[in-house]
Amino acid sequence: LDHWLRAEGLTAREEAPGESALSRFAAPPVTTVPVPGPARARRLPRFDTIDLSSNTNPFLGAAGQYPHLDTAELAETYLSTISGLPGHEGTGALTADHLLFSSGSVDGVMLLLAALASPGESVCVTPPTFPLYAHFARLLRLPLVEVPLRGDDLSELDTERILAADPRVTILCDPNNPVGTRLDPARVRPLVTGTRGLVVIDEAYVEFSEKPSYAGLVAEHDNLIVLRTLSKAWGLAGARCGIALAQPGIIDALRRVQVPFGFTDASQSAVRDRLTDARRVLASIRHIRAERDRMARILAEHPAVERVFPSEANFLLLRLHKHERVMEQLHDAGIVVADVGFLIPGTCRVSIGNRRANDALLAAFSAAV
Ligand code: PMP
Repeated sequence: LDHWLRAEGLTAREEAPGESALSRFAAPPVTTVPVPGPARARRLPRFDTIDLSSNTNPFLGAAGQYPHLDTAELAETYLSTISGLPGHEGTGALTADHLLFSSGSVDGVMLLLAALASPGESVCVTPPTFPLYAHFARLLRLPLVEVPLRGDDLSELDTERILAADPRVTILCDPNNPVGTRLDPARVRPLVTGTRGLVVIDEAYVEFSEKPSYAGLVAEHDNLIVLRTLSKAWGLAGARCGIALAQPGIIDALRRVQVPFGFTDASQSAVRDRLTDARRVLASIRHIRAERDRMARILAEHPAVERVFPSEANFLLLRLHKHERVMEQLHDAGIVVADVGFLIPGTCRVSIGNRRANDALLAAFSAAV
């Protein structure tokens, strides 16, 4: 920990007023754990360094050592990979200082609430959406404001009501889980420019969408945080790699509340390998999109399905005529889908799988008539 604190430049002090790039948001002062002894300047290790600083067992191989802390190169690799993708204009301006790796993007949500909201400051969420945002806000005992999405496709943000509530942090999910639709950007942008607080956009599924990401706007807006993950399109849920993109002052504040060493060497190398294999990832995304559209067309004709919501993610939200019965029949056929009736009555969310799994689902639906 001592090593980590020094490597991160964290020393025993309170942030001086006005020192943080977050001062516009009156961020709470961050107290860091005291480091014994005088703070030493950051130095590059010599090539022949003998490391006797971490109390680890030297006899049992690389996994016995703490993970590499310097992830700047991996951050640059991620940024250069996404800057070549469609809908990522503007991300070329981002550097490793704009990026934090977290243990999945859910960890990123927790970090930003812990780092950026003081007791009593409210968090706004827009149901129906990923329930974890509200869960974390409650865990941290932050007042929660719920401003429901509107419109037939649940894609319309009630920007005026959010602005009127004046929350410290607003968390949006785009494409939205469990609906699958993108939020109307004409209602998102005025929120980013009009609010006194921070806007977080969770883009866990954005690679499946043909509309642009908000990542390119991070360089322009000092109150915008974009969360990404390698768990969905990049196929690395097991590596637990989430990514927060924001201006360096915010990234620094998140880093200060992060539990050290969460991004293991095994995860780092899995991420490095996957980023060099971006062509295969993109080909699989194209395939998933085509399957999603095929499934949507077929399921829309099914008598048990009242509605297939338009999706720009790798799942479909179905409103069912006989919700309970269909859920039971899918269960009996050995097919597990997400019953999200607790978020949107009468619905289930179906992930797009491989052709075999998708056809099995369609067959189970046919039998369910
Ligand atoms: N955000 C959304 C909207 C999600 O649906 C999920 C996964 N269900 C996550 C974040 C979690 O992703 P990660 O594996 O990166 O923590």
